[in-house]
Amino acid sequence: MTREGGERQVHEEKGRRIVFFPCPLQGHMNPMLQLATLLHSKGFSITIIHTQFNSPNPSNFPNFSFEPISDGIQETSTKDFMALLIALNIRCEAPFRDCLARILSENKRDSIVCIISDAIMHFTQAVANHLKLPRIVLRPSPPSCFIAFANFPLLRQKGYLPIKDPQSKVPVSELPPLRVKDIPTIDTKNSSEEFDQLIPHMISETLASSGLILNSLDYLERTSLTQIQQDFSIPTFPVGPLHKYSPGSSNSLLTQDPSCIAWLDNQVHGSVIYVSFGSLADMEKQELVETAWGLANSDQPFLWVIRPGSVGGLDCVELPEGFEEKTRGRGCVVKWAPQQEVLAHPAVGGFWTHCGWNSTLESICEGVPMLCWPSFGDQRVNARYLSHVWRVGLELENGLERGEIERAIRRLMVEKEGEEMRKRVKVLKENAESSIRKGGSSQESLERLVDYILSF
Ligand code: UDP
Repeated sequence: MTREGGERQVHEEKGRRIVFFPCPLQGHMNPMLQLATLLHSKGFSITIIHTQFNSPNPSNFPNFSFEPISDGIQETSTKDFMALLIALNIRCEAPFRDCLARILSENKRDSIVCIISDAIMHFTQAVANHLKLPRIVLRPSPPSCFIAFANFPLLRQKGYLPIKDPQSKVPVSELPPLRVKDIPTIDTKNSSEEFDQLIPHMISETLASSGLILNSLDYLERTSLTQIQQDFSIPTFPVGPLHKYSPGSSNSLLTQDPSCIAWLDNQVHGSVIYVSFGSLADMEKQELVETAWGLANSDQPFLWVIRPGSVGGLDCVELPEGFEEKTRGRGCVVKWAPQQEVLAHPAVGGFWTHCGWNSTLESICEGVPMLCWPSFGDQRVNARYLSHVWRVGLELENGLERGEIERAIRRLMVEKEGEEMRKRVKVLKENAESSIRKGGSSQESLERLVDYILSF
Protein backbone atom coordinates (compact mmCIF):
# COMPACT_ATOMS: atom_id res chain seq x y z
CA MET A 1 0.00 0.00 0.00
CA THR A 2 1.30 3.47 -0.84
CA ARG A 3 1.98 6.02 1.88
CA GLU A 4 -0.98 8.02 0.63
CA GLY A 5 -3.27 4.99 0.72
CA GLY A 6 -2.09 4.23 4.25
CA GLU A 7 -2.82 7.79 5.39
CA ARG A 8 -6.25 7.68 3.85
CA GLN A 9 -7.18 4.62 5.83
CA VAL A 10 -5.98 6.15 9.09
CA HIS A 11 -8.05 9.33 8.62
CA GLU A 12 -11.11 7.49 7.42
CA GLU A 13 -11.03 5.20 10.40
CA LYS A 14 -11.10 8.33 12.54
CA GLY A 15 -13.89 9.57 10.24
CA ARG A 16 -12.41 13.07 9.82
CA ARG A 17 -14.71 15.02 7.55
CA ILE A 18 -14.26 18.49 6.02
CA VAL A 19 -17.32 20.46 4.93
CA PHE A 20 -16.73 22.72 1.93
CA PHE A 21 -18.82 25.66 0.79
CA PRO A 22 -17.84 27.04 -2.64
CA CYS A 23 -18.86 30.34 -4.17
CA PRO A 24 -21.01 29.38 -7.19
CA LEU A 25 -18.96 31.12 -9.88
CA GLN A 26 -16.81 29.13 -12.34
CA GLY A 27 -13.48 30.65 -11.34
CA HIS A 28 -14.21 30.09 -7.63
CA MET A 29 -15.81 26.66 -7.89
CA ASN A 30 -12.92 25.08 -9.82
CA PRO A 31 -10.15 25.62 -7.24
CA MET A 32 -12.48 24.73 -4.35
CA LEU A 33 -13.37 21.36 -5.91
CA GLN A 34 -9.71 20.80 -6.82
CA LEU A 35 -8.77 21.43 -3.17
CA ALA A 36 -11.53 19.07 -1.97
CA THR A 37 -10.21 16.37 -4.34
CA LEU A 38 -6.70 16.92 -3.05
CA LEU A 39 -7.71 16.70 0.62
CA HIS A 40 -9.78 13.62 -0.14
CA SER A 41 -6.62 12.02 -1.52
CA LYS A 42 -5.03 12.82 1.86
CA GLY A 43 -7.67 10.73 3.63
CA PHE A 44 -10.42 13.17 4.57
CA SER A 45 -14.09 12.55 3.91
CA ILE A 46 -15.67 15.39 1.98
CA THR A 47 -19.08 17.03 2.13
CA ILE A 48 -19.87 19.86 -0.29
CA ILE A 49 -22.69 22.17 0.76
CA HIS A 50 -23.68 24.11 -2.34
CA THR A 51 -26.25 26.52 -3.72
CA GLN A 52 -28.78 25.36 -6.27
CA PHE A 53 -27.66 28.22 -8.46
CA ASN A 54 -24.71 26.97 -10.57
CA SER A 55 -24.64 23.72 -8.60
CA PRO A 56 -21.70 21.37 -9.17
CA ASN A 57 -22.29 18.04 -10.90
CA PRO A 58 -22.12 15.31 -8.20
CA SER A 59 -21.49 12.59 -10.80
CA ASN A 60 -18.02 14.11 -11.42
CA PHE A 61 -17.16 13.53 -7.76
CA PRO A 62 -18.51 10.10 -6.77
CA ASN A 63 -16.57 10.04 -3.47
CA PHE A 64 -18.07 13.24 -2.08
CA SER A 65 -21.39 13.87 -0.31
CA PHE A 66 -23.38 16.79 -1.73
CA GLU A 67 -25.86 18.87 0.25
CA PRO A 68 -27.85 21.45 -1.76
CA ILE A 69 -29.28 24.46 0.05
CA SER A 70 -31.93 26.83 -1.24
CA ASP A 71 -30.50 30.22 -2.16
CA GLY A 72 -33.60 32.06 -3.34
CA ILE A 73 -31.71 33.30 -6.41
CA GLN A 74 -34.27 33.98 -9.15
CA GLU A 75 -32.00 35.56 -11.70
CA THR A 76 -29.97 32.82 -13.37
CA SER A 77 -27.50 35.19 -14.99
CA THR A 78 -24.19 36.38 -13.61
CA LYS A 79 -24.41 39.71 -15.45
CA ASP A 80 -24.20 41.74 -12.27
CA PHE A 81 -22.27 39.25 -10.24
CA MET A 82 -21.52 41.77 -7.48
CA ALA A 83 -25.25 41.96 -6.79
CA LEU A 84 -25.29 38.18 -6.90
CA LEU A 85 -22.49 37.88 -4.33
CA ILE A 86 -24.20 40.34 -2.01
CA ALA A 87 -27.51 38.44 -2.32
CA LEU A 88 -25.81 35.07 -1.72
CA ASN A 89 -24.19 36.34 1.47
CA ILE A 90 -27.58 37.40 2.80
CA ARG A 91 -29.81 34.58 1.56
CA CYS A 92 -27.57 31.60 2.19
CA GLU A 93 -26.86 32.28 5.86
CA ALA A 94 -29.91 30.59 7.43
CA PRO A 95 -30.06 27.58 5.05
CA PHE A 96 -26.31 27.06 5.37
CA ARG A 97 -26.45 27.20 9.17
CA ASP A 98 -29.39 24.75 9.29
CA CYS A 99 -27.71 22.37 6.88
CA LEU A 100 -24.43 22.43 8.79
CA ALA A 101 -26.22 21.96 12.13
CA ARG A 102 -28.04 18.94 10.69
CA ILE A 103 -24.78 17.43 9.38
CA LEU A 104 -23.23 17.95 12.83
CA SER A 105 -26.17 16.25 14.54
CA GLU A 106 -26.03 13.32 12.12
CA ASN A 107 -22.30 12.76 12.65
CA LYS A 108 -20.22 12.30 15.74
CA ARG A 109 -19.47 15.84 16.97
CA ASP A 110 -15.70 15.58 16.60
CA SER A 111 -15.80 13.86 13.23
CA ILE A 112 -16.34 17.21 11.40
CA VAL A 113 -12.91 18.81 11.67
CA CYS A 114 -13.56 22.16 10.02
CA ILE A 115 -15.28 23.97 7.21
CA ILE A 116 -13.41 25.34 4.23
CA SER A 117 -15.28 28.12 2.46
CA ASP A 118 -14.58 30.75 -0.16
CA ALA A 119 -13.33 34.08 1.22
CA ILE A 120 -16.10 35.98 -0.56
CA MET A 121 -18.76 33.88 1.21
CA HIS A 122 -17.90 35.85 4.34
CA PHE A 123 -21.12 35.03 6.25
CA THR A 124 -19.79 31.48 6.79
CA GLN A 125 -17.44 32.81 9.50
CA ALA A 126 -20.36 33.86 11.73
CA VAL A 127 -22.00 30.46 11.15
CA ALA A 128 -18.76 28.66 12.00
CA ASN A 129 -18.42 30.71 15.20
CA HIS A 130 -22.03 29.98 16.13
CA LEU A 131 -21.54 26.22 15.67
CA LYS A 132 -18.05 26.32 17.24
CA LEU A 133 -16.34 24.90 14.17
CA PRO A 134 -12.98 26.15 12.85
CA ARG A 135 -13.24 27.78 9.43
CA ILE A 136 -10.38 27.86 6.94
CA VAL A 137 -10.69 30.21 3.99
CA LEU A 138 -9.82 29.52 0.37
CA ARG A 139 -9.03 32.69 -1.55
CA PRO A 140 -8.90 31.64 -5.21
CA SER A 141 -7.13 34.77 -6.46
CA PRO A 142 -3.52 35.78 -5.80
CA PRO A 143 -2.03 37.13 -2.54
CA SER A 144 -1.07 40.40 -4.24
CA CYS A 145 -4.76 41.07 -4.85
CA PHE A 146 -5.67 40.18 -1.25
CA ILE A 147 -3.14 42.78 -0.10
CA ALA A 148 -4.61 45.39 -2.47
CA PHE A 149 -8.14 44.71 -1.15
CA ALA A 150 -6.92 44.88 2.45
CA ASN A 151 -5.45 48.30 1.65
CA PHE A 152 -8.65 49.79 0.21
CA PRO A 153 -9.18 51.96 3.35
CA LEU A 154 -5.66 53.39 2.91
CA LEU A 155 -6.21 53.91 -0.84
CA ARG A 156 -9.42 55.76 -0.02
CA GLN A 157 -7.68 57.88 2.60
CA LYS A 158 -4.91 58.78 0.13
CA GLY A 159 -7.45 59.76 -2.52
CA TYR A 160 -6.77 56.94 -5.04
CA LEU A 161 -10.30 55.63 -4.45
CA PRO A 162 -12.83 56.13 -5.85
CA ILE A 163 -10.85 56.03 -9.09
CA LYS A 164 -11.23 59.24 -11.08
CA ASP A 165 -9.43 58.18 -14.25
CA PRO A 166 -9.68 54.41 -14.97
CA GLN A 167 -6.85 54.69 -17.54
CA SER A 168 -4.44 56.48 -15.17
CA LYS A 169 -0.93 55.06 -15.18
CA VAL A 170 0.07 57.00 -12.06
CA PRO A 171 1.97 54.61 -9.76
CA VAL A 172 0.34 53.67 -6.45
CA SER A 173 3.47 54.13 -4.35
CA GLU A 174 1.86 52.31 -1.39
CA LEU A 175 1.28 49.16 -3.50
CA PRO A 176 4.09 48.68 -6.02
CA PRO A 177 4.04 47.69 -8.86
CA LEU A 178 0.38 48.71 -9.22
CA ARG A 179 -0.74 51.84 -11.01
CA VAL A 180 -4.14 53.47 -10.49
CA LYS A 181 -5.59 51.52 -13.45
CA ASP A 182 -4.45 48.23 -11.83
CA ILE A 183 -6.37 48.73 -8.55
CA PRO A 184 -8.79 45.78 -8.41
CA THR A 185 -12.10 47.64 -8.38
CA ILE A 186 -15.28 46.15 -9.79
CA ASP A 187 -17.98 48.16 -11.54
CA THR A 188 -21.46 47.41 -10.34
CA LYS A 189 -24.87 48.79 -11.13
CA ASN A 190 -25.55 48.71 -7.39
CA SER A 191 -24.69 51.56 -5.09
CA SER A 192 -21.02 51.59 -4.31
CA GLU A 193 -21.92 51.37 -0.62
CA GLU A 194 -22.84 47.71 -1.06
CA PHE A 195 -19.60 47.01 -2.86
CA ASP A 196 -17.75 48.93 -0.16
CA GLN A 197 -19.19 46.52 2.41
CA LEU A 198 -18.45 43.29 0.52
CA ILE A 199 -14.67 43.62 0.31
CA PRO A 200 -14.09 44.80 3.92
CA HIS A 201 -16.27 41.94 5.16
CA MET A 202 -14.34 39.48 3.04
CA ILE A 203 -11.07 40.74 4.53
CA SER A 204 -12.21 41.00 8.17
CA GLU A 205 -13.90 37.58 8.16
CA THR A 206 -10.85 36.01 6.53
CA LEU A 207 -8.63 37.50 9.23
CA ALA A 208 -11.08 36.17 11.85
CA SER A 209 -10.78 32.65 10.44
CA SER A 210 -8.37 29.88 11.43
CA GLY A 211 -6.27 29.96 8.25
CA LEU A 212 -5.90 31.11 4.67
CA ILE A 213 -5.33 28.76 1.74
CA LEU A 214 -4.07 30.43 -1.43
CA ASN A 215 -3.99 29.02 -4.94
CA SER A 216 -0.52 30.37 -5.55
CA LEU A 217 3.08 29.37 -5.06
CA ASP A 218 6.12 30.72 -3.33
CA TYR A 219 8.21 31.04 -6.50
CA LEU A 220 5.66 33.34 -8.17
CA GLU A 221 4.66 35.53 -5.25
CA ARG A 222 7.22 35.31 -2.48
CA THR A 223 7.07 39.04 -1.69
CA SER A 224 3.28 39.15 -1.37
CA LEU A 225 3.17 35.91 0.61
CA THR A 226 5.78 37.19 3.04
CA GLN A 227 3.86 40.43 3.38
CA ILE A 228 0.63 38.56 4.21
CA GLN A 229 2.46 36.52 6.83
CA GLN A 230 3.98 39.68 8.33
CA ASP A 231 0.96 41.99 8.21
CA PHE A 232 -1.81 39.57 9.14
CA SER A 233 -1.36 37.08 11.95
CA ILE A 234 -3.05 34.20 10.20
CA PRO A 235 -1.61 30.80 9.22
CA THR A 236 -1.19 30.88 5.45
CA PHE A 237 -0.96 27.92 3.08
CA PRO A 238 0.07 28.63 -0.53
CA VAL A 239 -0.68 25.24 -2.11
CA GLY A 240 -1.07 26.12 -5.79
CA PRO A 241 -1.30 25.50 -8.64
CA LEU A 242 -4.30 23.43 -7.51
CA HIS A 243 -5.40 22.35 -10.99
CA LYS A 244 -2.11 20.51 -11.46
CA TYR A 245 -2.84 18.08 -8.61
CA SER A 246 -6.17 16.91 -9.97
CA PRO A 247 -6.54 17.80 -13.65
CA GLY A 248 -9.31 15.21 -14.01
CA SER A 249 -11.70 16.87 -11.57
CA SER A 250 -13.29 19.27 -14.02
CA ASN A 251 -16.47 21.02 -13.08
CA SER A 252 -17.25 23.08 -16.10
CA LEU A 253 -20.57 24.89 -15.71
CA LEU A 254 -20.84 25.19 -19.50
CA THR A 255 -20.49 22.30 -21.94
CA GLN A 256 -16.98 22.21 -23.35
CA ASP A 257 -16.79 21.77 -27.13
CA PRO A 258 -14.14 19.10 -27.83
CA SER A 259 -14.20 19.68 -31.62
CA CYS A 260 -11.57 22.42 -31.24
CA ILE A 261 -9.00 19.83 -30.15
CA ALA A 262 -9.38 17.98 -33.45
CA TRP A 263 -8.99 21.36 -35.20
CA LEU A 264 -5.82 22.10 -33.20
CA ASP A 265 -4.43 18.69 -34.20
CA ASN A 266 -4.21 20.00 -37.77
CA GLN A 267 -2.38 23.23 -36.97
CA VAL A 268 1.32 23.96 -37.01
CA HIS A 269 3.21 23.60 -33.72
CA GLY A 270 3.10 26.81 -31.63
CA SER A 271 1.19 28.76 -34.30
CA VAL A 272 -2.28 29.24 -32.76
CA ILE A 273 -3.40 32.09 -30.53
CA TYR A 274 -6.12 30.92 -28.12
CA VAL A 275 -8.61 33.69 -27.23
CA SER A 276 -10.91 33.43 -24.23
CA PHE A 277 -12.12 35.90 -21.63
CA GLY A 278 -13.43 33.50 -18.98
CA SER A 279 -16.88 33.05 -17.53
CA LEU A 280 -17.84 36.61 -16.50
CA ALA A 281 -16.08 39.30 -18.56
CA ASP A 282 -18.05 40.77 -21.44
CA MET A 283 -17.59 43.24 -24.29
CA GLU A 284 -19.61 45.65 -26.38
CA LYS A 285 -20.68 44.77 -29.94
CA GLN A 286 -18.17 47.24 -31.40
CA GLU A 287 -15.37 45.64 -29.36
CA LEU A 288 -16.29 42.29 -30.91
CA VAL A 289 -15.95 43.84 -34.35
CA GLU A 290 -12.49 45.24 -33.48
CA THR A 291 -11.44 41.88 -32.00
CA ALA A 292 -12.61 40.02 -35.11
CA TRP A 293 -10.70 42.30 -37.50
CA GLY A 294 -7.64 42.35 -35.27
CA LEU A 295 -7.54 38.55 -35.42
CA ALA A 296 -8.29 38.45 -39.13
CA ASN A 297 -5.62 41.03 -40.04
CA SER A 298 -2.94 39.42 -37.84
CA ASP A 299 -2.78 36.50 -40.29
CA GLN A 300 -2.24 34.09 -37.38
CA PRO A 301 -4.35 30.96 -36.79
CA PHE A 302 -6.72 31.43 -33.83
CA LEU A 303 -9.11 29.51 -31.60
CA TRP A 304 -11.68 31.94 -30.23
CA VAL A 305 -14.18 31.27 -27.44
CA ILE A 306 -17.32 33.43 -27.69
CA ARG A 307 -19.35 32.54 -24.62
CA PRO A 308 -23.13 33.02 -24.93
CA GLY A 309 -24.04 36.31 -23.28
CA SER A 310 -20.50 37.67 -23.43
CA VAL A 311 -21.14 40.23 -26.20
CA GLY A 312 -23.70 42.92 -25.36
CA GLY A 313 -25.56 40.31 -23.28
CA LEU A 314 -26.67 38.49 -26.46
CA ASP A 315 -27.03 34.71 -26.61
CA CYS A 316 -26.03 34.63 -30.24
CA VAL A 317 -23.59 36.96 -31.97
CA GLU A 318 -22.95 37.67 -35.60
CA LEU A 319 -19.38 38.08 -36.73
CA PRO A 320 -18.73 40.94 -39.17
CA GLU A 321 -19.38 40.41 -42.83
CA GLY A 322 -16.29 39.25 -44.69
CA PHE A 323 -14.62 37.91 -41.52
CA GLU A 324 -15.32 34.26 -42.25
CA GLU A 325 -14.06 34.56 -45.80
CA LYS A 326 -10.86 36.28 -44.71
CA THR A 327 -10.10 33.73 -41.97
CA ARG A 328 -11.33 30.53 -43.63
CA GLY A 329 -9.11 27.59 -42.73
CA ARG A 330 -7.20 29.38 -40.01
CA GLY A 331 -9.88 30.18 -37.45
CA CYS A 332 -12.06 28.13 -35.13
CA VAL A 333 -14.83 29.71 -33.01
CA VAL A 334 -16.50 27.78 -30.16
CA LYS A 335 -18.86 28.68 -27.31
CA TRP A 336 -16.75 27.11 -24.55
CA ALA A 337 -13.51 25.13 -24.80
CA PRO A 338 -11.77 22.46 -22.70
CA GLN A 339 -9.30 25.19 -21.73
CA GLN A 340 -6.66 23.18 -19.90
CA GLU A 341 -6.46 20.72 -22.80
CA VAL A 342 -6.27 23.60 -25.26
CA LEU A 343 -3.42 25.30 -23.41
CA ALA A 344 -1.53 22.00 -23.19
CA HIS A 345 -1.89 21.40 -26.94
CA PRO A 346 1.40 21.75 -28.87
CA ALA A 347 -0.29 23.88 -31.57
CA VAL A 348 -1.05 26.68 -29.08
CA GLY A 349 1.66 29.35 -28.93
CA GLY A 350 -0.13 32.23 -27.16
CA PHE A 351 -3.19 33.02 -25.05
CA TRP A 352 -5.16 36.23 -25.31
CA THR A 353 -6.79 36.30 -21.89
CA HIS A 354 -8.79 38.46 -19.49
CA CYS A 355 -6.21 37.37 -16.86
CA GLY A 356 -8.61 35.58 -14.50
CA TRP A 357 -6.39 33.88 -11.93
CA ASN A 358 -7.27 30.33 -13.04
CA SER A 359 -6.57 31.18 -16.66
CA THR A 360 -3.32 32.88 -15.66
CA LEU A 361 -2.10 29.87 -13.68
CA GLU A 362 -3.27 27.41 -16.35
CA SER A 363 -1.33 29.31 -19.00
CA ILE A 364 1.81 29.59 -16.87
CA CYS A 365 1.65 25.87 -16.12
CA GLU A 366 1.64 25.05 -19.85
CA GLY A 367 4.39 27.55 -20.66
CA VAL A 368 2.13 29.73 -22.85
CA PRO A 369 2.83 33.51 -22.97
CA MET A 370 -0.13 35.88 -22.84
CA LEU A 371 -1.78 38.90 -24.35
CA CYS A 372 -3.54 40.60 -21.44
CA TRP A 373 -6.91 42.33 -21.62
CA PRO A 374 -8.06 42.61 -17.99
CA SER A 375 -11.60 43.62 -17.28
CA PHE A 376 -12.14 44.04 -13.52
CA GLY A 377 -11.03 43.03 -10.03
CA ASP A 378 -7.95 40.84 -9.62
CA GLN A 379 -7.58 40.56 -13.43
CA ARG A 380 -6.01 44.05 -13.40
CA VAL A 381 -3.48 43.07 -10.75
CA ASN A 382 -2.70 39.83 -12.59
CA ALA A 383 -2.16 41.66 -15.89
CA ARG A 384 0.30 44.01 -14.18
CA TYR A 385 2.27 41.12 -12.69
CA LEU A 386 2.22 39.21 -16.00
CA SER A 387 3.50 42.13 -18.05
CA HIS A 388 5.70 43.98 -15.57
CA VAL A 389 6.95 41.51 -12.93
CA TRP A 390 7.09 38.09 -14.59
CA ARG A 391 7.33 39.62 -18.09
CA VAL A 392 5.45 36.79 -19.76
CA GLY A 393 2.56 38.90 -21.04
CA LEU A 394 1.85 41.98 -23.15
CA GLU A 395 -0.94 44.24 -21.99
CA LEU A 396 -3.40 45.79 -24.43
CA GLU A 397 -3.40 49.13 -22.66
CA ASN A 398 -5.70 51.23 -24.82
CA GLY A 399 -8.91 49.28 -25.21
CA LEU A 400 -9.78 47.15 -28.21
CA GLU A 401 -8.74 48.65 -31.52
CA ARG A 402 -8.09 46.45 -34.57
CA GLY A 403 -4.69 47.95 -35.46
CA GLU A 404 -3.36 47.64 -31.93
CA ILE A 405 -4.70 44.08 -31.61
CA GLU A 406 -3.10 43.03 -34.90
CA ARG A 407 0.30 44.43 -33.84
CA ALA A 408 0.11 42.92 -30.35
CA ILE A 409 -0.74 39.45 -31.75
CA ARG A 410 2.26 39.58 -34.06
CA ARG A 411 4.55 40.75 -31.26
CA LEU A 412 3.41 37.81 -29.15
CA MET A 413 3.27 35.10 -31.81
CA VAL A 414 6.06 35.78 -34.29
CA GLU A 415 8.44 38.45 -33.02
CA LYS A 416 11.50 38.19 -30.79
CA GLU A 417 9.65 39.84 -27.90
CA GLY A 418 7.18 36.91 -27.83
CA GLU A 419 10.04 34.44 -28.09
CA GLU A 420 11.67 36.00 -24.99
CA MET A 421 8.38 35.80 -23.09
CA ARG A 422 8.02 32.15 -24.13
CA LYS A 423 11.44 31.40 -22.65
CA ARG A 424 10.58 33.14 -19.38
CA VAL A 425 7.19 31.44 -19.02
CA LYS A 426 8.86 28.03 -19.50
CA VAL A 427 10.96 28.80 -16.40
CA LEU A 428 7.80 29.65 -14.44
CA LYS A 429 6.21 26.40 -15.68
CA GLU A 430 9.18 24.35 -14.46
CA ASN A 431 9.08 26.02 -11.07
CA ALA A 432 5.32 25.51 -10.79
CA GLU A 433 5.83 21.84 -11.54
CA SER A 434 8.57 21.41 -8.97
CA SER A 435 6.58 23.28 -6.29
CA ILE A 436 4.02 20.46 -6.12
CA ARG A 437 6.61 17.66 -6.21
CA LYS A 438 7.89 16.08 -3.00
CA GLY A 439 9.96 18.68 -1.14
CA GLY A 440 8.47 21.54 -3.22
CA SER A 441 7.10 24.63 -1.45
CA SER A 442 3.42 24.01 -2.26
CA GLN A 443 3.71 20.33 -1.38
CA GLU A 444 5.19 21.31 1.99
CA SER A 445 2.40 23.84 2.56
CA LEU A 446 -0.08 21.10 1.82
CA GLU A 447 1.50 18.76 4.37
CA ARG A 448 1.41 21.62 6.90
CA LEU A 449 -2.24 22.21 6.09
CA VAL A 450 -3.13 18.53 6.62
CA ASP A 451 -1.31 18.49 9.98
CA TYR A 452 -2.97 21.74 10.96
CA ILE A 453 -6.45 20.42 10.15
CA LEU A 454 -5.74 17.22 12.08
CA SER A 455 -4.69 19.32 15.09
CA PHE A 456 -8.22 20.77 15.51
N1 UDP B 1 -12.68 27.83 -18.94
C1 UDP B 1 -13.05 26.75 -19.69
N2 UDP B 1 -13.38 26.95 -21.00
C2 UDP B 1 -13.36 28.16 -21.60
C3 UDP B 1 -12.97 29.27 -20.83
C4 UDP B 1 -12.62 29.08 -19.51
O1 UDP B 1 -13.08 25.62 -19.18
O2 UDP B 1 -13.69 28.25 -22.78
C5 UDP B 1 -12.30 27.65 -17.52
C6 UDP B 1 -10.83 27.94 -17.33
O3 UDP B 1 -10.06 26.77 -17.58
C7 UDP B 1 -10.77 28.43 -15.90
C8 UDP B 1 -12.15 29.01 -15.65
O4 UDP B 1 -12.99 28.56 -16.71
O5 UDP B 1 -10.51 27.36 -15.01
C9 UDP B 1 -12.17 30.52 -15.65
O6 UDP B 1 -11.60 30.99 -14.48
P1 UDP B 1 -10.79 32.35 -14.43
O7 UDP B 1 -10.37 32.55 -13.01
O8 UDP B 1 -9.71 32.34 -15.42
O9 UDP B 1 -11.81 33.46 -14.89
P2 UDP B 1 -13.31 33.85 -14.47
O10 UDP B 1 -14.21 33.00 -15.28
O11 UDP B 1 -13.45 33.60 -12.98
O12 UDP B 1 -13.38 35.29 -14.83
